[in-house]
Amino acid sequence: MERVRKGLIAITGTTGVGKSQLAIELARALNGEVINADAMQVYRGYDIITNKVSKSEMLGVPHHLLGTIEPYREYTVHEFEQDAIAKITEIHSRGRIPILVGGTNYYIQSTMFRKALISNHARNAADSALACDPRLHAFEEQNAGKTNQELWEELKQADPTMAEKWHANNRRRVLRSLEVLHTSGKRHSEWIRESNQAREQEETLRFSTLLFWLYADTPTLNQRLDSRVDKMVERGMFDEIAEFKSQLTSSDKANPSHGDFSSGLMQAIGLREFSGYLAATDSAERDQLKAKGIDDMKASTRRYSKRQISWIRNKLLPECKSTLHKSTRAHAFVLDATDLDLWNTNVRDKAIDIAKRFDSDQPLPEPMSLSETAKSLLADIKSSPNSALAWERHLCAVCSKSAEESVDGIAREVWLNGDREYQQHLRSRQHKKNIKYRKRVAEPGHPLNKASKRANTSSE
Ligand SMILES: [Zn+2]
Repeated sequence: MERVRKGLIAITGTTGVGKSQLAIELARALNGEVINADAMQVYRGYDIITNKVSKSEMLGVPHHLLGTIEPYREYTVHEFEQDAIAKITEIHSRGRIPILVGGTNYYIQSTMFRKALISNHARNAADSALACDPRLHAFEEQNAGKTNQELWEELKQADPTMAEKWHANNRRRVLRSLEVLHTSGKRHSEWIRESNQAREQEETLRFSTLLFWLYADTPTLNQRLDSRVDKMVERGMFDEIAEFKSQLTSSDKANPSHGDFSSGLMQAIGLREFSGYLAATDSAERDQLKAKGIDDMKASTRRYSKRQISWIRNKLLPECKSTLHKSTRAHAFVLDATDLDLWNTNVRDKAIDIAKRFDSDQPLPEPMSLSETAKSLLADIKSSPNSALAWERHLCAVCSKSAEESVDGIAREVWLNGDREYQQHLRSRQHKKNIKYRKRVAEPGHPLNKASKRANTSSE
């Protein structure tokens, strides 16, 4: 009987780190199929400039959404999202595992996460319902004679949580919180707490996801990116550009763009950089623009890879982290692809091992334990601020355990949703037990006491 699979493996990272290769290796090891999530590679043809993986490199692994869209067509994120989800469902129904691979951030993000943020509505609904209330303006006028301090004292009595949040001089905010209570009969903090709870419990992920961030350090990567552009030129990139130009200017009915350099595949890095070259008629000028185009392409590829990294660190990973206390989670791992000679040990074998555990519901290793690179890149990643307001969600530092502290070697964070749950937790037997445990660990000489370890070595 075929296994039911519901998970998703996603591979992201900058251009030129070997994402396609890893996807194929994982697909072969886990009976998977690849879904392309690169905005240029969805387009048909122009395989050199879009840097598509070749048929022979695919080694028989099925690839989806790769080279299926006409080059002049505008393919929206929404279309991609729908197509990708349909493919994932289809691959699951074959009892195989889908592997989403690409560096286009909005493709990855919209496939992994639902966009509809219900609680944003809830939050706004509370606000807009009140904003329409004519009593609001009356309320402001009624209080015109009161000082900032007086208003704040009033708020402190009625809704201390909000009073703590606003400075007394922030008259507008203080008034607003008082208004909410006055007009709705419910404290402002209560409104916020409710909508946050809705957001907290909301499942933002579509699928249980294993995310690999394939990373190479910047100097190495930049060199690799430059030589990649040179190789593309050698492999005949300019033939593709010439072909693109003739297609672009032909009055073909299949080409509704009619020389529009801003739509479809034309947005791709490479083609955009050669728009001057494509438009030039003078041959000396063309040669000059060709050289400039190559330089521009190298520069914009580097810039693009920088943006990709900052998006992964600032948006994707925090968003993944904010799922870890929910029932559908995104587990993110960094794989170090800096040294290509070590690819098999640093990238392939580690990825296959983690993916097999993920696929069979076995415990996963602690992401930061994978390598020094992983440790430094993941150390300061925080939960997405959009999905959890700090004053509403609590991490219990006493009960959370690092990988080396826990019995089974897996790090666990203990999150409590809302003040009430947190207060209850603080009174629980488990928490009190952990307080005693922390005290023991803090004693000098305890094997897990890092401070005393350091102190010992420094005094030697
Ligand atoms: Zn605790």
